[in-house]
Amino acid sequence: MTLDIQYFKTRLEAEKVRLEAELNELGQRDPSKASDWNAQPSDTSEISFRDEVADRFEEQDERKETELSLEERLTNINLALTKIEAGSYGLCQVDQEPIEADRLEANPAAQTCKKHLDQN
Ligand SMILES: [Zn+2]
Repeated sequence: MTLDIQYFKTRLEAEKVRLEAELNELGQRDPSKASDWNAQPSDTSEISFRDEVADRFEEQDERKETELSLEERLTNINLALTKIEAGSYGLCQVDQEPIEADRLEANPAAQTCKKHLDQN
């Protein structure tokens, strides 16, 4: 079976644009590190409406968590795009076996086959 690389590339690129937009909303891109974003507190004027500072910290934690998971997804997408360029897209990084088509369909940025899911 041959993978439709172009199809996955299109999906990866679309997802990359979407993730970068989400990250840009969430925080500021680290100028020294293109792949890192810093979660910023939301508009400070909001805080005058309620004096619950704890809420604020909680919200900041959530943003940080969201940011990290988005960054992780973006890292995998960039890795997958690099592999497309290198001609090794769709191969498990553990045993170099082809990754199942339905797994790639569900997650085009998957780095491992189903057998090695936990090592992704
Ligand atoms: Zn594998």
